[in-house]
Amino acid sequence: MTHDKLQKRGRIIASRCYLCKETLETNNHLFLHCKVTTQVWALFTNLASLNWIMPEHIADLLSCWVRRGGSKSQRRWWRTVPACIWWIIWKERNQRIFVGKECTIEKINWKVITTLGFWCKEMNIEEEIQLVDFIGAL
Ligand SMILES: [Zn+2]
Repeated sequence: MTHDKLQKRGRIIASRCYLCKETLETNNHLFLHCKVTTQVWALFTNLASLNWIMPEHIADLLSCWVRRGGSKSQRRWWRTVPACIWWIIWKERNQRIFVGKECTIEKINWKVITTLGFWCKEMNIEEEIQLVDFIGAL
């Protein structure tokens, strides 16, 4: 659980975001608004040439993270992006807390891209070529 959820259950902790070390850790901060996480989101919003304004809450993001146009497989892998970002950010957060190791933003981005590619392959989402093109553009 993020710190805000632990505090609601009565745990006394000095909360701070382990990614940016600048503010309280909440779900919405960690997964949407942290300055580390926003760099990962920017990979994808830039790819899609989106003029993106991050919603305040996770539920709002899920309701508007829709790719218009493109093939069915492109739309499927696009819908997978939020879960992939959140999985890698959660693992990075836990690594920093419990192992004491930090990855650079470049390595975090690389983990998101390679994990997304792996997940798409496992879900039989074709058109991996777009991911390859995406990686090549970085
Ligand atoms: Zn942060």
